[in-house]
Amino acid sequence: MADKRTHVRYSNKRGLASTDVGREETGETAPVIESSMTITRTEVGIVGAAPAGLLLAHLLAREGIGSVVLEDKTREHLENRVRAGVLEQGTVDLLTAAGPGERMKREGRVHQGIENRFDGQGHHIDFPTLMGGKAITVHGQQETGAKGMTLAVAHVRTLTEGLTAWYRRGDASLLAGYSARCLKRIWKAQRFSWWMTTMLHLHPGDTPFDRRRQIAELDHVTASRAAMTTLAENCVGLPFEAENG
Ligand SMILES: Cc1cc2nc3c(=O)[nH]c(=O)nc-3n(C[C@H](O)[C@H](O)[C@H](O)COP(=O)(O)OP(=O)(O)OC[C@H]3O[C@@H](n4cnc5c(N)ncnc54)[C@H](O)[C@@H]3O)c2cc1C
Repeated sequence: MADKRTHVRYSNKRGLASTDVGREETGETAPVIESSMTITRTEVGIVGAAPAGLLLAHLLAREGIGSVVLEDKTREHLENRVRAGVLEQGTVDLLTAAGPGERMKREGRVHQGIENRFDGQGHHIDFPTLMGGKAITVHGQQETGAKGMTLAVAHVRTLTEGLTAWYRRGDASLLAGYSARCLKRIWKAQRFSWWMTTMLHLHPGDTPFDRRRQIAELDHVTASRAAMTTLAENCVGLPFEAENG
């Protein structure tokens, strides 16, 4: 019989410390140092107690699927290292609906848009106006923007659907299509990052012609509502359903 609880095991110099995910959320942290090997039967093994691994364990537990999360580093190390700052709307919505979003809502700051400055002028791009109320949330240590965690969250959502279909109905089709679905989102994030980088950065070797073209791009993206909407849509996050199309 599989153990339906979720355990997180952290390594340290003395051996392994384990924490029950459910207990962790109530604030009752009581890690147990284990001196000898234990055998736990479960349904899903997860490597890494970082955003993806912990969220996957949490979502699976809500579906009644047990898991064990194995982590190479100590809990203290994980809680103190620098991680994501900018969260897309879909990530915020998923964390809120799934439960662990309470602290994010308390401590995060909602950013309504960005300001592009060039040729001595600022141009505001207002996300909620363009995207029907959607915005980005800045949470945690810093305000650099990246897409890694929001991609990880989308993949965890897809994987949870696949594992649930497998354990509930023996249907492996969603698991078989997991990589293809995730890669669609990954390549769109790559495209957006490339576009933003070429638009906002000066590159060694750029000619005056390149510079004029770059200013024209910035002019367009701050003057055309359609172009602003494209930028806003990618910043607040493409809908999860975009992976299916
Ligand atoms: C400075 C910085 C700023 C960032 N800003 C943003 C942002 O604004 N927005 C955004 O969306 N993303 C951002 N990211 C990216 C985001 O933090 C990562 O994409 C996210 O942490 C990925 O989560 P993950 O759980 O997939 O992997 P990771 O966070 O890399 O965690 C993997 C875990 O697995 C463990 N592990 C690995 N191998 C093993 C093993 N063999 N056995 C046991 N454990 C193992 C590791 O110790 C680690 O804890 C930022 C990253 C950095 C560093």
